[in-house]
Amino acid sequence: MPLSRRSLLAAAVGAKALAQPGPFHWPSGKRGAVSFTFDDARVSQIDFGIPVLNHLGLKATFYVSPSGFRQRVWGWKQAIAAGHEMGHHSHSHPCTVNYRFSRDNALEDYTLGRMEADLDRATAEIEETFGVRPVSFAYPCGQTWVGRGEERRSYVPLIARRFRTGRGYLNEAANDPQRCDLAYLMGTHCDGYRGDQLVAQVEAAMKEGRWLVFAGHDFGDPAPQTTSIEAIRAVWTYASDPAQGIWLDTVATISDHLAKTRSVAAQR
Ligand SMILES: [Zn+2]
Repeated sequence: MPLSRRSLLAAAVGAKALAQPGPFHWPSGKRGAVSFTFDDARVSQIDFGIPVLNHLGLKATFYVSPSGFRQRVWGWKQAIAAGHEMGHHSHSHPCTVNYRFSRDNALEDYTLGRMEADLDRATAEIEETFGVRPVSFAYPCGQTWVGRGEERRSYVPLIARRFRTGRGYLNEAANDPQRCDLAYLMGTHCDGYRGDQLVAQVEAAMKEGRWLVFAGHDFGDPAPQTTSIEAIRAVWTYASDPAQGIWLDTVATISDHLAKTRSVAAQR
């Protein structure tokens, strides 16, 4: 007997409900999460930034490339020992041909195979130098593709196979912990902002129960690719008040919670 239109609709709605993961919960007392991340293993991170973070007790994620970390290997070893996360930022940092610095190492000239080789070379150097295997990746320049025109391909699947998360750059929203694609996390840039501006972004993200991932570069006075140490202090002061219910930790720690909580929810 053919099913009525109403029962077909009910079956479709039921199937959709089954496909949805269960409700997501932050740990007890937390409304949302914030991670500070910094790219390129720039020397100001070791020389100025990490000592301040250590003083505050704030753990951050650093997405490194060998050309950067080779300038401060001992400092990076100490940073890992202090609890900061060492993430992965490719070996040769390829970006679009439109940036002068990457014209001779442009994503437009890459294939997926060449990108895989670049990624795996950096992983091997990080493991050999520091004895850690990164679980978090940041796309250089926030760009996620190789090739051009009809041959252009996303390399997000390469990241999904190698890492727990991949972080974008210059994105305009915080991550929905229930639904976000861990292989492409939104990264909100924090360079050049005042403390009150970053705190306002944190407040907006917490109202929606989100995970805000800040993305910066150098540490110092406010500048286009520099995060102000005072701005970090302002966020830390705000976020470390238990009444705010903010989980401030590395990408690896927060994403571990998401991966476990979401998979448990999906099994229900
Ligand atoms: Zn970079």
